[in-house]
Amino acid sequence: MSGRCKNIQEPEVQQLKRHNSSLPVFSEHGVRMCCRLRCLVKQLDRGEASVAELKKSLEYAASVFESLYMEESRRLADPEDELSDIQSDSVPVEVRDWLASTFTRQRGLVVRRNEDKPRFRSIVHVVQAGIFVERMYRRTSHNACLSYPPNAIAVLKHADTWCFDVFALNDASGDHALKFVFYELLTRYDVINHFKVPVSALLSFVDSLEVGYSKHRNPYHNLVHAADVTQTIHYLLLKTGMVHWLTELEIFAIIFAAAIHDYEHTGTTNNFHIQTRSHEALLYNDRAVLENHHVSAAYRLLQEDDMNMLSNLSRDDWRELRNLVVEMVLATDMSCHFQQIKAMKNYLQQPESIDKPKALSLLLHTADISHPAKRWELHHRWTASLLEEFFRQGDKEAELGLPFSPLCDRKSTMVAQSQIGFIDFIVEPTFTVLTEMIEKIVTPLIEEASQAAVNQSSSVSRTEASGSEGKPSSKKSGGSEVSCSLTTVDLHSFKGTWNQEIQKNREKWKAQAKGVEYLEDNDKKEQNQEQNQENQQQNQQQNQENHDDSQNTELERMKTEEDGADEVETVKQDQQHQLDRSKSPGGFLQAFDLHTAELVTADSLEQ
Ligand SMILES: [Zn+2]
Repeated sequence: MSGRCKNIQEPEVQQLKRHNSSLPVFSEHGVRMCCRLRCLVKQLDRGEASVAELKKSLEYAASVFESLYMEESRRLADPEDELSDIQSDSVPVEVRDWLASTFTRQRGLVVRRNEDKPRFRSIVHVVQAGIFVERMYRRTSHNACLSYPPNAIAVLKHADTWCFDVFALNDASGDHALKFVFYELLTRYDVINHFKVPVSALLSFVDSLEVGYSKHRNPYHNLVHAADVTQTIHYLLLKTGMVHWLTELEIFAIIFAAAIHDYEHTGTTNNFHIQTRSHEALLYNDRAVLENHHVSAAYRLLQEDDMNMLSNLSRDDWRELRNLVVEMVLATDMSCHFQQIKAMKNYLQQPESIDKPKALSLLLHTADISHPAKRWELHHRWTASLLEEFFRQGDKEAELGLPFSPLCDRKSTMVAQSQIGFIDFIVEPTFTVLTEMIEKIVTPLIEEASQAAVNQSSSVSRTEASGSEGKPSSKKSGGSEVSCSLTTVDLHSFKGTWNQEIQKNREKWKAQAKGVEYLEDNDKKEQNQEQNQENQQQNQQQNQENHDDSQNTELERMKTEEDGADEVETVKQDQQHQLDRSKSPGGFLQAFDLHTAELVTADSLEQ
């Protein structure tokens, strides 16, 4: 810094410091940068500044802004951070807790859990040892409460696989897929024992859940979908090593949330509720209407003594479980998708560890839209189910004189493009961000476990050398079995699995879309005069091009910008205009707007 500015620097520094004393981010460096830049302006006025000095000052300014930006992003990503400025020295703990419970989303959760709990727990053994160990266990504890049909046992042997056939389980269990998946997983993760869950209450609760899921006879949002999402959560926890990062309570919470996440779904979208001014829309003021209902109605079941499977949880556990469940289920509102993905990407840029509720929410959201990443037979069946559900909503809309929601008109069949779009713009990016998140969380755990395994083997060698029996502990941290279970986690293969299925499904949809176009062309050749046919083809091609262009442009924009609600809103509006204009049913985005991301298309399903 040039000496000429020294005389004006100090008073300005003091002045700026006074003004910015409440901004810890804008500290010493920021103040100095301002002075330096002002000084430089004066030098430039006088024609005294050299290029070198200008460059140096600008570089300094850039570095300060960068760190300011990083700090600010971190603060934005962590709403609680506002409270961290209030130091316990100046404010009593009780007051701080009151502030936290009143002005942050941590309502009522005063007790903070110790984040440094042991990661390697006995339950990991229970789960990873597999179904047979568990079955022995169940026989001795609460066998009398739920007997498994032999066929259901056979299907459940594949519960740890990505393409588990939940439809087969539902058939084998007499339409009780949810009951068996829920019970099976709570047993395998040792939740029932750990939280002293009364099994009779658990079974009454899940029976009522199944009744609620069947209330509206939905082709898609039914108990099989709930079972599917719950089993997918299990796969994600187990195969990616995420189970090692979570506490028993967090595992309980995500399995519970998955099981209830669409409870009493009406088979219609949030937008339909809002448009028809339904009881639920009025009750929840048009905000996350269905999601609010799912979690609220499920918790109402727990109010009944005979269904209160959470009766033995401590007050703190109950409160924490509820916070997590509410957050996760509300985050399945698809209108949160872009904000959720954007926030997670932001988290991944930060050096800090990832917020548990946000990580859990992303897991559940991904599981909820995962069927396009499963093998074709499963994906295709879900597709057909969801389309039928949409069409039924369309029938209702026609009856009520409302315009069709996207993809809800039975006569509209050209939807392959929208399905491909759904995969490209929603499903694949979600899986990508989820995988990055998991890598960030699990990689350090794997390294830690590898180190522990090395230490363990050297200590075992010493034990063996001394002649005593090296009995492996099933509970202790650093035990060789546990280390092995983490070191065998293969994130690369996880990524390969979902990626491969997505690619295959996308290709199948593309092929079908082409096939449909081909068939349509042939029909027209037979039915029309040559001239008519040419006209039609031209029109069709033109429509298709217009549609593709406009949709892809908007989607591309959305994908690159992903800039929160305003952008998404603009895209939605634009797309609505396109839809009105071209009557194109390729509206995956609109359907997404209708808070139904499990969007699919099935050009040829009906054919
Ligand atoms: Zn769902």
